[in-house]
Amino acid sequence: MNCHLVAVIAFLAGSWLLHTLSAILDVLRAPPRVPPEFADVFDPPAYARGLAYRRASARLSVIADTCGTGLLLAAILLGGFAWLDRAVRALGLSPLPTGLCYLGAVALAASLSGLPFDAWRTFGVEARFGFNKTTVATFVRDRLVGLALSVLLGAPLVAGVLLLLDRAGSAAWLWCWALVTLFSLGVTYVAPTWILPLFNTFTPLEEGRLRRAIETFARRAEFEVGGIFVVDGSRRSTKSNAFFTGLGRRKRIALFDTLVRDHAEAEIVAVLAHEVGHAKCGHIRKGLAGSVLRTGLLFFLMSLFLDSPGLSEAFGMAQPTAYAGLVFFLLLYTPISLLLGVAANWISRRREFEADRFSARTTGDPAALASALKRLSVTNLSDLTPHPLTVWLEYGHPPVLARLRALAEFAK
Ligand SMILES: [Zn+2]
Repeated sequence: MNCHLVAVIAFLAGSWLLHTLSAILDVLRAPPRVPPEFADVFDPPAYARGLAYRRASARLSVIADTCGTGLLLAAILLGGFAWLDRAVRALGLSPLPTGLCYLGAVALAASLSGLPFDAWRTFGVEARFGFNKTTVATFVRDRLVGLALSVLLGAPLVAGVLLLLDRAGSAAWLWCWALVTLFSLGVTYVAPTWILPLFNTFTPLEEGRLRRAIETFARRAEFEVGGIFVVDGSRRSTKSNAFFTGLGRRKRIALFDTLVRDHAEAEIVAVLAHEVGHAKCGHIRKGLAGSVLRTGLLFFLMSLFLDSPGLSEAFGMAQPTAYAGLVFFLLLYTPISLLLGVAANWISRRREFEADRFSARTTGDPAALASALKRLSVTNLSDLTPHPLTVWLEYGHPPVLARLRALAEFAK
């Protein structure tokens, strides 16, 4: 058996096993009673509902992951990738459109295979626990807008990468890296004004006490607020959040309408101060630099494998092509991408603690952030006691309990 094929199968199976194990361990770890730190916000029925939600989400993730991995393995072992190549070549197009059609078909198949599980999550699990506000029309519209964006933005980018791989010789990986970096910086820059409004309405936070409190805070923290917006998160879910987007002049803070509606002023300022902390501590810049480095590593390693006949043979292809090589390399990249994800999450969790400390220090009110975090964990039925393996694999934020303990430590 081809060694590339053995490696790809082992990597996919290993990744599936790790994620399944994490989901099972996480469900088993849940204590039957409310942890004492949350006794003031979770009553026993709400806590029981949280446990049921945790089980239902884990079950769905395992089923979706199992079906996805199973389908992918079947496509590999039954020669699906080579069959698709023959079908696309039969169209008789020139090389570039042939490559675009091939990659477009692979991307479409991947996203269609996940669609039933997306629908199940939204209208099954999330609806059963009272989170879902998405209508079928919004769900369909979101997918169609997403598809249109992938075609409009993704196709020219992929075409650029394929052209460079074809023409730029041994330096192609460097050019591809530069192209993808420029492209993602551009998208990050325009996202708040052009892309995010396609999915949500951003309304400037109205004049009033909350706005004045935020402005007072911003002056004290010496932070220039590009814009404070309320985003209609309630259109899709009752879950609550706040986030920071964009670069330079276009950066803006978005508070979910559910957050503004359900939380006290001091709590909202504390949450916002946490977001400002991310900007002030340079997390946005460092995060971008990290992702640029990851992209470079991806293209460098790809340049080593792309022309390897063994890799194409593993997928039953008669001859190696750059477009199919891209897909096969990404499958081979599974363990590296998993480890890089784990490292990125570890860094992100440290930065969350740093932003929490920034909030506590600048507002002088660590209790307000702690109270906001606790109440958000009820609104979102957060996993209060995730298994360390799950945290290691998936958590970009520290578990709530760890954040509360760090804040209590800070307040001493
Ligand atoms: Zn954060």
